Amino acid sequence: MKIDQELCIGCGQCLPYCPVDAISLEDDLAEIDFEECAECGNCLRMASCPVDAIYQQELVWPRTVRSILSDPLTIAEESGISGRGTEEMKTNEVTGRFKLGSVGIGIEVGRPITGARFYDVEKVAQAVAKLGVEFEKINPTTSLMSDPSTGKFKDDILNEKVLSAILEFPIKLEKLPELFDVLKKVSDEIDCVFSLDVATRIAPDGSVPTDPFIKASGLWLAPNGKTNVGLGRPRYKEDLS
Ligand code: SF4
Ligand code: SF4
Repeated sequence: MKIDQELCIGCGQCLPYCPVDAISLEDDLAEIDFEECAECGNCLRMASCPVDAIYQQELVWPRTVRSILSDPLTIAEESGISGRGTEEMKTNEVTGRFKLGSVGIGIEVGRPITGARFYDVEKVAQAVAKLGVEFEKINPTTSLMSDPSTGKFKDDILNEKVLSAILEFPIKLEKLPELFDVLKKVSDEIDCVFSLDVATRIAPDGSVPTDPFIKASGLWLAPNGKTNVGLGRPRYKEDLS
């Protein structure tokens, strides 16, 4: 994103809208730190610049990566959906992708303020790839890998900055302790933060299969439940016999 300084009147209205603090006022004129801007589009959409000084410059590869993963209105070619992850992660009760005994993992690398560079996303991906995980194919982050079997990303995007990138894959329930150990270790090796989503079906007795593993790991657990109330018809029925 860029600001036309011939037009800017330095009102400062756009500054609070930047989630990575990339806009500053210099000599009463706003400017965007091009290297830090994640191309989320927020300032252009939300700040209502009184003189229309904010404009989207032409986005060319590899900078397009920033927009794909940071701007909720940019549709990723690979998944055909907007946003950072796959929709399916949120509709498991309809698709049944994560069956009992299998756990859906989402690792969201980067948050507002810090954002994430792809060299850090790669460190996390390479660490978990050693567990033999298979990254979700219909996911914009996976589509940027040069070798999904090792978690290696294309070299020319490693310095690109995004608000966050989500790594998605299923894993066997009993592999969770190993995954948690790997993630704790790699968290010391990156310059940003990540959050971990652990998606599971509730067992027939009402227990949550992943809870004992998470409690044993000492990780902080923030449970979130979701029940299909008929808005989507399940395409899959699990055999619970
Ligand atoms: S909102 Fe527009 S005029 Fe005001 S500081 Fe930002 S770019 Fe300049
Ligand atoms: S596009 Fe997003 S990251 Fe870039 S300056 Fe605007 S608000 Fe900040």
